[in-house]
Amino acid sequence: MYTIPPIAEPLSAWFAENRRALPWREDRDPYHVWISEIMLQQTRIEAVKKYYARFTEALPDIRALSECPEEKLLKLWEGLGYYSRARNLQKAARMIVTEFGGRFPEHYADIVKLPGVGEYTAGAVASLCFNEKVTAVDGNVLRVLSRLTGDRRNVLLPETKKAATKELAAVLPEQPGAFNEALMELGELVCLPNGVPLCGRCPLREMCAACRDGLTEELPVREKQTKRRKEEKTVLLIEDGEGRIAIEKRKGPGLLSGMYQFPNVNGFLTETEIGSLVKEWGMEPLSAAFYRDAKHVFTHIDWLMKGWRVRVQNAGDRFLWVSPRELAETYPLPTAFKPFLQ
Ligand code: SF4
Repeated sequence: MYTIPPIAEPLSAWFAENRRALPWREDRDPYHVWISEIMLQQTRIEAVKKYYARFTEALPDIRALSECPEEKLLKLWEGLGYYSRARNLQKAARMIVTEFGGRFPEHYADIVKLPGVGEYTAGAVASLCFNEKVTAVDGNVLRVLSRLTGDRRNVLLPETKKAATKELAAVLPEQPGAFNEALMELGELVCLPNGVPLCGRCPLREMCAACRDGLTEELPVREKQTKRRKEEKTVLLIEDGEGRIAIEKRKGPGLLSGMYQFPNVNGFLTETEIGSLVKEWGMEPLSAAFYRDAKHVFTHIDWLMKGWRVRVQNAGDRFLWVSPRELAETYPLPTAFKPFLQ
């Protein structure tokens, strides 16, 4: 739980003295704040400055952005990368023209529906430009809050961000825009990542749990979730009387769709279960013998496979029957099944 101490006043006093002059801060024009926030998603402030100047000079308002030819738009975005951001900006500009008469929507609930705009950006624009009482929680803010409150929850989890947003919403002062901006600025300039915050210069050090307890190296907790799944499979190399092997095409969508595979089922089957299964598939089994184990590691799944050699009397029409040579030359077989070829 993020129990946030009374930070509004010291934060505001610090911000008044330490606020950086940035081009998009000169006015509170939502078009400027929006463009800068989208650029800042993947690029450092110093680098953004020149792209921002070039972009807003060429496309000074929402209408100009909405009408810009795609080639010119992408050229203006050159150097920033992640071009879907530029395309989304234009989609959003067109939506603002058609649905809001060309005026930037003033409420968080409308802003967050614009293409390419997430909760943080919507919160930043709504609070900074329209003084709406909403939070803008990004990585900087989460870092400050984790250290300030000594919270050990993993900041990479959506539920942690949700909880922080809720707690922060409860302490938002009358000027939420300035408060949000000050908190982000503190994270950018003082409460630095990777264990080197400048606590000596921090206006919140008197109330900071991490600073008091020497936990600034440990917080925030950032644990990457490796959601690896293990799947057990029985893979069958079924051979008919003519030395042909049964294969089938993997159906999509999904892992390896469109490629060919040996018949396989989930779980590790016994010899008897394999016999029954082959019968169910319309074939008469002659023998089944364990052949080998194999493992294949995909990005999120590990396949643990047990391969069996099965001889059948009749081929049946459930599978495609191919010679070992045809299999090698014509049919794409995923690497996962290759160990069973040996
Ligand atoms: S005192 Fe240090 S750790 Fe705590 S919020 Fe300030 S800079 Fe971050």
